[in-house]
Amino acid sequence: MGVAARKLELVEPVARFASKPIHMLIGGKWVPSLSGMTFPTYDPSTEEIITQVAEGVKEDIDEAVKAARKAFEDGPWPRMTPSERGRLIWKLADMIEDHLEEFAELETLDNGKPITISRAADVPLAVDLFRYMAGWATKIEGNTIPISVPYAPNTRYLAYTIREPVGVVGQIIPWNFSLLMAAWKLGPALASGCTVVLKPAEQTPLTSLRLGELIMEAGFPEGVVNIVPGYGETAGAALAAHPDVDKVAFTGSTEVGRLILQAAGGNLKKVSLELGGKSPNIIFADADLEVAIPGAANAIFFNHGQCCCAGSRLYVDHRVFDKVVTGVAEHAQRIRLGPGMDPATQMGPLVSREQLHRVCGYLRSGLEEGARAVAGGRRHGDTGYFVEPTVLVDTRPGMKVEEEEIFGPVVSAIPYRNVEEVASAANNTVYGLAAGIWTRDVTTAHRLASRIRAGTVWVNCYNIFDAAMPFGGYKQSGWGREMGHDAIEMYTEKKAVCLPM
Ligand code: NAP
Ligand code: MG
Repeated sequence: MGVAARKLELVEPVARFASKPIHMLIGGKWVPSLSGMTFPTYDPSTEEIITQVAEGVKEDIDEAVKAARKAFEDGPWPRMTPSERGRLIWKLADMIEDHLEEFAELETLDNGKPITISRAADVPLAVDLFRYMAGWATKIEGNTIPISVPYAPNTRYLAYTIREPVGVVGQIIPWNFSLLMAAWKLGPALASGCTVVLKPAEQTPLTSLRLGELIMEAGFPEGVVNIVPGYGETAGAALAAHPDVDKVAFTGSTEVGRLILQAAGGNLKKVSLELGGKSPNIIFADADLEVAIPGAANAIFFNHGQCCCAGSRLYVDHRVFDKVVTGVAEHAQRIRLGPGMDPATQMGPLVSREQLHRVCGYLRSGLEEGARAVAGGRRHGDTGYFVEPTVLVDTRPGMKVEEEEIFGPVVSAIPYRNVEEVASAANNTVYGLAAGIWTRDVTTAHRLASRIRAGTVWVNCYNIFDAAMPFGGYKQSGWGREMGHDAIEMYTEKKAVCLPM
């Protein structure tokens, strides 16, 4: 079973952008790395190199942090009014929207996801995020506080708080939604008045760098946004450890999240983390199965399972288990795999050879330990990093496939007998990012939603995101919340001011 690795035509700006070596953005200038080193970025459907990208290391990060510090302390950015900042962010959103097709193709080329998804989800969500955050720029407020100082009788004081930008921020993002993760990170930082050094994932640097061009074209002052592509162990680690960075914001694996935390310890910079998950998706016997079955398939197979919130543990009431598993398996078998650029493709390749090996390793381990694949179970084809959408049954607690984040199109379907059992199984994980509940009973839905230790609970839906709705993890799924007004809090410090009246 081979996968057509045929070349698909790109729009002219993408073909042009992706055909030249790409520099990094530091202090408003596009520069090669100080060492002159570059690294390749690949098309995961053909395994061919798309182009070379400047490889930043510690010295480049140092330059970028200097530029961000300068832009934060002097220059036009700190003197801009909140309204001016908001209008710039809104303008950037408009510009991304004007280049929707270009961003969609670039993302699909670099990451492998279907072009229909990049067009309908990745780019519009990024646009919306910037628009939402543009509105926040003028709404970052403090309080006035009535105080009664016990050791100073007969005195009155006025106390109030203001929120100020946290400063120079390092942002390290993953490859699963490259443009959208850049938006989640940059939007609130810019609305708050911070300056940024952004490090995109080595696998998918292209959309972040193209976004950098629009940021400069929109008129953001130089040094406000600096973008340094490179590897995590070098550029990423240098950014997380940098003594002149005030905050580091990270999305990626829990394992690297721990390293970020250690690196941040040097100057005790603020840290926010959006990490992995092993999210339970629970179907009750009374659920509308016409909706729940495709819903459960979408919960795991959307973005090839490369979602931190993927519904990878599917708990199904034993009375409807066979029906649901058959339905999800049939759905999996109907998914059309192919290169992301083909408009008929429903699932593209995984992002990299490394991820292909990781996911296939999990499949092997699950099958060796006694799991059964009722759909999929293997690599698909021999070119490109394709994996068959897979439904496993007969998994047990303790098996790696049931406990660890696979980050691929693999779901374990597990039967349960009652609410107590499923509530405890759902929470029996080190993660706490998301969960799904499918039932027609409102009381069941509310009761279980309150028992599940996770940052998002979807009821009779899954993978619904909005710029206004906070997203983040309990337990080892992270610290802090992205999106919503919570995100503004992560990029501001609160100052109390007190004076006699
Ligand atoms: P990762 O290693 O955690 O990478 C995420 C980001 O961190 C990338 O920009 C990466 O750079 C950078 N990084 C890696 N090591 C670093 C270090 N020591 N210091 C600072 N930054 C560092 O994730 P991955 O290797 O791409 O994927 C592995 C697993 O991560 C997945 O299987 C999944 O479990 C998880 N993941 C989670 C999310 C999410 O949205 N929560 C997204 C992607 C992956 P490089 O890419 O250049 O190494
Ligand atoms: Mg990596």
